[in-house]
Amino acid sequence: MSISEQEVLLSMIQQYYMPAQVITGTNCIQEKSMLLKSLGQKALIVTGRQSARLNGSLEDTLAALKTNGQDYALFDQVMSNPTIACVYAGADIARSEKVDFVIALGGGSPMDAAKAIALLACQDIPEEALFSGTYGKEVLPMVLVPTTAGTGSEVTQYSVLTNDRLQTKTTLSAPHLFPRYAFLDARYTLSLPYITTLNTAMDALSHAIEGMLTKRASGITDILAAESIRKIFSCLRILSEEKPPTLTERDQLLQAAMLGGMVIANAGTTAVHALGYSLTYFKGIDHGRANGLLLASFLSFVEKTRPERVAQILKQTGLLSTAAFKAEMDRLLGAKEPLSTDEIVRYCDIAMKTRSIANSLVSPGIEDLMAMFRNSIRV
Ligand code: NAP
Ligand code: FE
Repeated sequence: MSISEQEVLLSMIQQYYMPAQVITGTNCIQEKSMLLKSLGQKALIVTGRQSARLNGSLEDTLAALKTNGQDYALFDQVMSNPTIACVYAGADIARSEKVDFVIALGGGSPMDAAKAIALLACQDIPEEALFSGTYGKEVLPMVLVPTTAGTGSEVTQYSVLTNDRLQTKTTLSAPHLFPRYAFLDARYTLSLPYITTLNTAMDALSHAIEGMLTKRASGITDILAAESIRKIFSCLRILSEEKPPTLTERDQLLQAAMLGGMVIANAGTTAVHALGYSLTYFKGIDHGRANGLLLASFLSFVEKTRPERVAQILKQTGLLSTAAFKAEMDRLLGAKEPLSTDEIVRYCDIAMKTRSIANSLVSPGIEDLMAMFRNSIRV
């Protein structure tokens, strides 16, 4: 880097904000149960339909609440890619049960739902205004416990909901949606099947790589992203269906996913997430896989204009070129889903309207998006 480039960077004002207190380690919920005490007398526990009962997170949380003499209600109806109806139903329970705070146990879906529930429990917001951001700051305090290693939602201010009105997934985003506490205990992720482990790792990788390819990337988010990419790649290289990750590897993935969340909390995402939402909404493709399918094409697209930036990312992966990156992603992703030209046009039209396109370091036009899609799936 020349002196003048360094000077330009040093003269730029940068800031970073992520107010959640993060607690990590085996049995951290029970060991640090006293932290929950100040949040109130009664919790709403928000989960998916099954996994929290099986991975130990619900049992540990109930034990922690019992130690503190705190009461709880359970909302265990969160589906993957939670709907608007689901979060209003959860908020109704929060109100009728008069809870003081919310605890989410699960992947991104229960964590994101919990954020919207915590907001809707305090404020009467009609559905039409839900994504407007034009409401007050009142929100119930939140405790998030990730049981997948992917979304990093435990350290973001985003709640991604399925938006049938716009036929896509829309993000609620506000500074008061950051949780109070995030508890990371990798034991809860031991029960994840291979495919969910892979797909969620792809989401985390996508957050870190996309974060480096946004206009809002900073020196701080770059450091977080680089470490996240390094950790994920070292796990992806040895991930196989036959040999599940060890607890140490699971912990590495969980930490990497959190770092990815810390990246997008400040840098945001790019065209990859914008396009990926249509693959999930219309084709039912898992969120992480949808991003994974598009990542290599986006990297190649940006490389044409900003090769030095892409080289910084590749350096963390240990791969020498975008072609090698694509080959590695193809190996991990296996057979790809087919898409018709009409579908591609429709999904690109939807993506073009999102903020993530403008936030991309190199903003793609509609033709670029269509080319990215063609290179990412089976046409
Ligand atoms: P998920 O939809 O939360 O969970 C996927 C599946 O994994 C569910 O069937 C779930 O079962 C199961 N599961 C969860 N933990 C498990 C465990 N420990 N063992 C076995 N199975 C387990 O998937 P996700 O990828 O974590 O989250 C995706 C959502 O997050 C999407 O809606 C996406 O848009 C959003 N997202 C949010 C952000 C953000 O910053 N807020 C960032 C990226 C993505 P149960 O249903 O029984 O729990
Ligand atoms: Fe994501």
